[in-house]
Amino acid sequence: MSGPSSSAVAQRVTSAANAVVVGGGIAGLAAATVLAERGVGVTVLEREAYLGGRAGAWSDVLDDGTSFQMERGFHAFFRQYYNLRALLRRFDPTLSFLRPLDDYPILGPNGEAQSFAGLPTRVPWNIIELTRRSPAMGWKDLMRIDGRRAARMLSYNNEDTYRRFDTDTASEFLDSLNFPPAARRMLFDVFAHSFFNPENDMSAAELLMMFHFYFTGNPDGLVFDVARTPFSTAIFAPWQQYLEQLGVRFECETTAQTVARDDNVWRVETDRGHHEGQGLVVATTVPGLQALVAQSSQLDAPRWQQQIDSLALTLPFVVWRLWLDRPTRRDRKPFVGITGRGILDNISLYHQFESESRDWADSHGGSVVELHAYAVEPGFDEALIKAQLLEHLHELYPETAAATIVEERWIVRRDCPAFAPGSYSRRPTVVTPFPQMAIAGDFVRLPFPSALMERAAASGLMAANHLLNSHGVAPEPVQSVSNRGLLAGLPL
Ligand SMILES: Cc1cc2nc3c(=O)[nH]c(=O)nc-3n(C[C@H](O)[C@H](O)[C@H](O)COP(=O)(O)OP(=O)(O)OC[C@H]3O[C@@H](n4cnc5c(N)ncnc54)[C@H](O)[C@@H]3O)c2cc1C
Repeated sequence: MSGPSSSAVAQRVTSAANAVVVGGGIAGLAAATVLAERGVGVTVLEREAYLGGRAGAWSDVLDDGTSFQMERGFHAFFRQYYNLRALLRRFDPTLSFLRPLDDYPILGPNGEAQSFAGLPTRVPWNIIELTRRSPAMGWKDLMRIDGRRAARMLSYNNEDTYRRFDTDTASEFLDSLNFPPAARRMLFDVFAHSFFNPENDMSAAELLMMFHFYFTGNPDGLVFDVARTPFSTAIFAPWQQYLEQLGVRFECETTAQTVARDDNVWRVETDRGHHEGQGLVVATTVPGLQALVAQSSQLDAPRWQQQIDSLALTLPFVVWRLWLDRPTRRDRKPFVGITGRGILDNISLYHQFESESRDWADSHGGSVVELHAYAVEPGFDEALIKAQLLEHLHELYPETAAATIVEERWIVRRDCPAFAPGSYSRRPTVVTPFPQMAIAGDFVRLPFPSALMERAAASGLMAANHLLNSHGVAPEPVQSVSNRGLLAGLPL
């Protein structure tokens, strides 16, 4: 995407250059990687004790003395995460820590199941085949669908899609397709919910972008890979080691509080001291960025400040990991999406793919099950939510009904970005109004389709490229699926 500009020819900086990266999640580490590989001295500041941010993992111990790594929950590594995968190959060239899953089934309320395995990878064949095998959709139903609107799902066209659909909600758009309710649930509801945003407060354009990025515009298909070992050992420890070999310094448990620029040098004040660098990448969460901007009087570009202020978080999510004293049925899939079962969004069977969980399950004759619920209302009743999640687990996997919960970890957080209707035009880009300062993260507006971990990675690469540009250094290539759907440009 971002090929070398004609003036950028050097592979490394020629004079001493340094930069501070605030935030040690995927976006920050992506920026640090590109900067360090091109000779920039980098310091990464991270608020938590561990790297990885929302994909990070920390040490924990079960009551029986078993040490393990707890995470913010199951993560899917899709095959079209080209930028993230290129970064991960730096320290695991064959991506050996990833294990392919052959399917990603959706389970419906009345025993329906929708499979995404073995779909053709090109439009329109993938859509035709998915529709053909959908148990919730007959040929009569097909005739009732608003074909013109449905065709818009194949006509993603970047800015044009946002211009036309960003002020609509995802639920309005999906309603307008006139899919039968069961088919809508099976084909779209889980998909829309997977981005943590509630359908009725998510931009329809963002949904169309996601649909294009993950399905119709994705030549690598909708199935994905999972990590065989905890993210700390699979990703963040080796990534840190790789970066330290390039001279990157890490300071964890350090919160950046203000930034200011003097004599072409950024000074970052933290709760433990300060750091300086000619370049600055802020790759924090949305609240982290907002606090930094609010407290830094020099970041005084009103329009940009408004853009930062207008960013928002979506509703909280819940991750509930359970250590059960009984196994799950052997034919269960490692991961299933759930629809039409209240707040339950998905079930992961950790013992089927992750090393520590498998060891525990083997030695205890049990299982390690993780339940997710996204976009839950703040102030919910924890006992009620737990009861509901458990009830649905027991209905779907009856062999768990008699199991005793040996251990549990309950995580509720609210730190995923909102993609509310009308928010696209106000969303900040990687480039800021300030010299040698860029921002990165999965909330940043990018000029190509991307989401979640991949958006974090791509924005981090672009933030580093922005800083390197003024040094005349060649940018890191940034890749993406096509910016246009099959029917883009047709008058629909
Ligand atoms: C339950 C769950 C499941 C998910 N599943 C998937 C999935 O299946 N596939 C997928 O692609 N994505 C998934 N995601 C999303 C993915 O985790 C994020 O998109 C990605 O990790 C975001 O990376 P980031 O670097 O932009 O932000 P973050 O990971 O949030 O990193 C920001 C970092 O900045 C630090 N920070 C904040 N303020 C400061 C400060 N002032 N000073 C210093 N440091 C600061 C934070 O501690 C954090 O480490 C999931 C997320 C969750 C929560």
